[in-house]
Amino acid sequence: DTKQDPVIILGTGLAGYGLAREFRKHDSDTPLILITSDDGRSYSKPMLSTGFTKNTSADDLAQQDAGSMAKQLKASVWTMTEVSEIDTDKQVIKIGNAETSIHYGKLVLAVGAQVIQPPIEGDGLDRVYSVNDLLDYDDFRSAISQNNVKKVCIIGGGLIGSEFTNDLLNGGFEIEVVDPLAHCLPTLLPEVAGKAVQAALQASGAKFHFGPLVTAVNKADVGVTVSLNTGETISADLVLSAVGVRPRIDLAQASGLQTNRGIVTNRLLETSAPNVYALGDCAEVDGHVLVYVAPLMAAARALGKTLAGEPTEVQYPAMPVTIKTPACPVVVAPPAAGARGEWTVQADGNNVQAEYRDSSGNLLGFALTGEATKAKLALQKELPPIIG
Ligand code: FAD
Repeated sequence: DTKQDPVIILGTGLAGYGLAREFRKHDSDTPLILITSDDGRSYSKPMLSTGFTKNTSADDLAQQDAGSMAKQLKASVWTMTEVSEIDTDKQVIKIGNAETSIHYGKLVLAVGAQVIQPPIEGDGLDRVYSVNDLLDYDDFRSAISQNNVKKVCIIGGGLIGSEFTNDLLNGGFEIEVVDPLAHCLPTLLPEVAGKAVQAALQASGAKFHFGPLVTAVNKADVGVTVSLNTGETISADLVLSAVGVRPRIDLAQASGLQTNRGIVTNRLLETSAPNVYALGDCAEVDGHVLVYVAPLMAAARALGKTLAGEPTEVQYPAMPVTIKTPACPVVVAPPAAGARGEWTVQADGNNVQAEYRDSSGNLLGFALTGEATKAKLALQKELPPIIG
C-alpha cells in the first residue's frame, strides 16, 4: 500500500517548509517527514541582508523552531541530519554513514543553493565570511561584535553584496567593495542603472573597486589585508564574500538524477527518477534556474497538489525582483537567457527606467531604480509569463 509510504522532503528552507504547508492543505493524513542538515528553524532568508538596519539577531529572525513546525505540519522534522545517498530504484534514502535508510513513497529535493567560494589565498581566511543561512548569519554577527569590527570589505557587488553594503552602511560600518565587473548588480542591470545604485551607495559612504579580483586575505596587526590582482591592498577588520550561489546538485548527481545548472525537472517538478521531485534554489524547472522566493512559492503551490494526487504543472508569471538597497531602490525583471532585444534607457539622476524590448516593441524585461520603481506594476502587466 503506497498510500502509507511517507512523503519525504529534504530541506527546511522556504521551499521545504512552503511545500509542506501547501501539501497539508490538500492531504492531512499521509505521513510527512522533513529532513534538514541545519537546525530546522523556520525563517525568511531575505531578512538576512536587512539585519543591521533593523538590528535583528538570528534568534529574532527565527520564527519557529523545528518542534513547533513539526506540530503545525503534522510531520516529523529531523534536524542536523544530512542525507548522503538516494537509491532511486529501491526508493530509499540513506542518512549519514548510510547505516540508517528510509523508504519513501515520494521524495522532494529542496536542498537550496550553496555559496560560490572564490579562489583566495592567505592566512586570514578565517576572517572571510559568507551569509547564506541563519547559522551563517549568527556566526557573522558574533564575529562582528567579538572583533570590534568597524570596517568590512565585501567581495562581490551583485544582489547579495549590494544589499549587505547598504545594510552594513546603515549599521554604521565603513565599507569597501571589490567586483571584477564594471558596476553594481552587473549581471542584473544595464550599466546606467547599475551606476545609479553605485552612486547612491557611494553617497552613503561606500567605496568601490570595479575591475580587480581579490587574490589573498592575510592577517594584519589589526584585522586583515585584502590583496587585489592590481597590486592594490585594502585593510579591513572582516571580509564578507558574496560572489553568488549555485544550485546544490551534488547529492542528486551522485544518485544518478539528471542535472544541468540545477536538478533538472519538467513543469510537474518531476526529476528524471520516478517519484522524485525538486523545487527551490536547487531546481532547474523547465530550463529556468531562479533563485528567488516568488518562483519557489509558485512551485510549492503546484507540487503540493501534485503530491496529493492532483498532477498540476507549475506556472511562472513574470516575477520582478525587488533589491533591498534603500539608498537607491531597485526592481528588475531580467530578460530570459537568449532573449533578443535592446535596452532603451531614460535616466534622471539616480532614477533610471530601462526597458528591454524586441524588434516588434514587445516588453521582455525591465530595470528600474530610484523614483522610477513606481513604474513596476504597469510594466509588470506588460511582461509575458516565464512559464505560461
Ligand atoms: P534554502 O533556504 O537554502 O534551504 C535548503 C535546505 O536544504 C536547508 O534546510 C539545508 O539545511 C537543507 N539541505 C541541504 N543539503 C542537504 C542534505 N544533503 N540533506 C538534508 N538537508 C539538506 N529572494 C527574493 O526573492 N527576494 C529577496 O529579497 C532575497 N534576498 C536574499 C537575501 C540573501 C542574503 C540571500 C542569501 C538570499 C536572498 N534571496 C532573496 C533568495 C531567497 O532567499 C532564496 O531563493 C530562498 O530562500 C531559497 O530557499 P530554498 O528553500 O530553496 O533553499
